Amino acid sequence: MDISITAPASPPAPPATLKGVGFGRIFTDRMFAADFSPEKGWHDFRIIPLSNISLHPACCVFHYGAEVFEGLKAYRAEDGSIRLFRPLDNGRRLWNSCERMGLPQLPPEDFVEAVRTFVREEAPWVPGEPNTSLYLRPFVFCTDVQLGVHGIRNASFYIIASPVGSYYPHGLAPVHIAIEREDVRAVRGGTGYAKCGGNYAAATRATVKAEKAGYDQVLWLDGVERRYIEEVGAMNVMFKIGGTVVTPSLTGSILPGITRSTCITLLEEMGLSVEERRLDVTELLDAAKSGTLEEAWGCGTAAVISPIGSLSFDGVDYPVSGGNIGPVSQKLYDTITGIQYGRLPDAHEWVMRV
Ligand SMILES: *Cc1c(COP(=O)(O)O)cnc(C)c1O
Repeated sequence: MDISITAPASPPAPPATLKGVGFGRIFTDRMFAADFSPEKGWHDFRIIPLSNISLHPACCVFHYGAEVFEGLKAYRAEDGSIRLFRPLDNGRRLWNSCERMGLPQLPPEDFVEAVRTFVREEAPWVPGEPNTSLYLRPFVFCTDVQLGVHGIRNASFYIIASPVGSYYPHGLAPVHIAIEREDVRAVRGGTGYAKCGGNYAAATRATVKAEKAGYDQVLWLDGVERRYIEEVGAMNVMFKIGGTVVTPSLTGSILPGITRSTCITLLEEMGLSVEERRLDVTELLDAAKSGTLEEAWGCGTAAVISPIGSLSFDGVDYPVSGGNIGPVSQKLYDTITGIQYGRLPDAHEWVMRV
């Protein structure tokens, strides 16, 4: 891949500290870009100063939502080295997301090369304070200028980067979850397994409703029977019930999280059995009532592990782990972040040095 690189206009000026800086609020001085046309394929790979993107108002992304994205982080280890965590899996998922939305696909190996080159160039922006990282947001969108609905011809691929502080400035904290009964996030045969912006737009109304009612996030049920657990907010979800960890199986409406897959491997190594299966909300609430629901947590790149302190269904609150962080949630968080920051051995070769 031939990448043209424009140096920053002035010496990079990363913030002295990320304390008090919200997630995804500040950005580095440059971005990665590439374009796709049927004639040239992917071309014009470039690292250029961060700027607004100028698009015709008839551009298809504004009207028909042809957009997909990824989310991963670059971590600075104590020895100063910079690492990525399972980036090829993000590249593979972007490939699948593009396929679902009819967008041109970038080979996963090219994705990794683009991410690595960009992070190497933006290295001064990878923060060094504990539990901080450089959050990377690759995205692909249609650039065709035409209101007729046709197959996509032209697209762009970008990566922007945002230095982010610890998701938990005051330590791992349990969240309060409302089980959503009306809206659904995704359906089988739809776009749930693709990381597309439209899924997030569809989730906004219920999320805002839950926040107004004093909850942190919603627990999504399946779109057909409104009965089976799917995800929590924009994270995968896991429950420890009677000593076994249960997580919804990947049926097409659920996003195949890389943190989810990492958790499954680590849980099995801890000697816990993991069941990937359908989980009925009645079974979950019965377990909460009888005390066999020992722990629940969400998992995703941004928060890593988000322990669930309570579940609310039709206005009734069910505490989980007595509203505290359970030992398995804590152990997963410590193990995953330990591997990412180089404090623990990387037995599965998940870490890639930049
Ligand atoms: C990105 C995402 C996840 C988590 O995926 P990771 O690869 O673990 O970051 C889970 N659910 C949804 C809906 C997502 O968009």
